[in-house]
Amino acid sequence: MSKGILAVVSGFSGAGKGTVMKRLMESHDNYALSISVTTRQPREGEEDGREYFFRTNEEVEEMIREDQLLEHAKYVDHYYGTPRRYVEDRLAEGKDVILEIEIQGALQIKKKVPEAVLVFITPPSMEDLEKRLTGRGTEEPEVIASRLSRASEEAKGIEKYDYILVNDNVEDCVKTLHNLILSEHLRTQRNMDFIRKIQEESRIFKKGE
Ligand code: 5GP
Repeated sequence: MSKGILAVVSGFSGAGKGTVMKRLMESHDNYALSISVTTRQPREGEEDGREYFFRTNEEVEEMIREDQLLEHAKYVDHYYGTPRRYVEDRLAEGKDVILEIEIQGALQIKKKVPEAVLVFITPPSMEDLEKRLTGRGTEEPEVIASRLSRASEEAKGIEKYDYILVNDNVEDCVKTLHNLILSEHLRTQRNMDFIRKIQEESRIFKKGE
């Protein structure tokens, strides 16, 4: 069975990547979305074990010490991290695993797993982002301000990603992301066993043998 692809998807808070991920999961069954641990408070409607595993500082620090997290970062005063076990198990099953994480974590993944694919999702403009964040109505103005300020920091790192995807239409964005991951499966470097087989089989056609 071929190993799954590890895809890291980042984007400014409010860029709509949550919706893109949800649609991607609903419309295809080759994906597994990793659920992170976080020390931030649940938002209304969020459930422990569904959007995140909501944990205390002490709990997350213990997971870090025990190397249970594949990556972790602090984002607007809270820890966020990816539980290692789930990701490794799903990849081994052949699932394409998506990590929806911020840039510091994304760069840690790129170092640890060089064959991971890093995708940055952005709205068409920053004005559009501000409107989306304000319109969501789930955060206090100071939190929105910190998130926008963080966005301006994150924007500096976009070129470290492999792909940039503009989310001006959710369905198009989902299709493009799915096609991108399908194409990644076709990279020669990911198919060396098959290539060796074809090369081996082709040897009998060599003239003079
Ligand atoms: P939010 O609080 O809006 O759910 O997430 C804030 C930021 O943390 C988002 O950019 C989200 O992608 C990122 N994030 C969520 N889970 C993780 C994680 O496990 N690791 C890292 N590094 N970032 C995460």
